[in-house]
Amino acid sequence: MTLIENLVSLHRVDSQVRALRGRLDSATTYLKSQQRQHADACSRRDELRSQIRQMQATAVNIENESNAIRDRIEALRGELNKSTNQKTYATILSELKLLQEKRDEADERALAQLGKVEEAKAKLVEVEGLAAQRQELLDSATKERNQCQVDVGERLAELERERAQAASHVPAKELDLFNRAAEVHEGEAMAEIVATDARRREYVCGACNMELPPEKFAVLSTNPNAAVVCVSCKRILFMAPQAQDAAKE
Ligand SMILES: [Zn+2]
Repeated sequence: MTLIENLVSLHRVDSQVRALRGRLDSATTYLKSQQRQHADACSRRDELRSQIRQMQATAVNIENESNAIRDRIEALRGELNKSTNQKTYATILSELKLLQEKRDEADERALAQLGKVEEAKAKLVEVEGLAAQRQELLDSATKERNQCQVDVGERLAELERERAQAASHVPAKELDLFNRAAEVHEGEAMAEIVATDARRREYVCGACNMELPPEKFAVLSTNPNAAVVCVSCKRILFMAPQAQDAAKE
């Protein structure tokens, strides 16, 4: 086989390897993005749960405060009933009035705090729903990726062996040209030349449309063991066999 034929078969198997790897890579990328979004949703949910616990604790503290005031009020009422002294009676009464105000204020705060807790709980239902949705998406992405690995894995290993085999027929220098072009053009390492005017031997690179200089065409059309690269995109150029025959005539 000629160099160009070997390069064309390398290109064929290389494209298949890349396409399969691409499938696996995109399933993996999708899975990773689902993992991230799931983790975000869970941490939002957990954060909200802990906020609610803190808010509930605050509400309990305020209620305890109110209860302590209530106990104090009850004790003072007892003293008030037993009181015979006018002055003491007036003092207790004014203290009772102050305490009642404090208790009302504490009850109001407790109510407001419980309102906040209820609001946060409603939000939590929403956030928990989102986290559950994210879990479902993550599960299906994991399943998809695993299935892809099963489907692709074996075939990919086989193709990679074929690729190594095809590459072994290409000399190091040309293989380097091929690999570099494949890297830059996502696997499109080769381009067929296209005639713009076959009679006048005017050809362009089929990938980027750059004109092929006559001296390069001369090599390409006569020496199938030389790698000619496009002056612009650096892809390795080749001619369809029938075009090659026509060029010889
Ligand atoms: Zn080109």
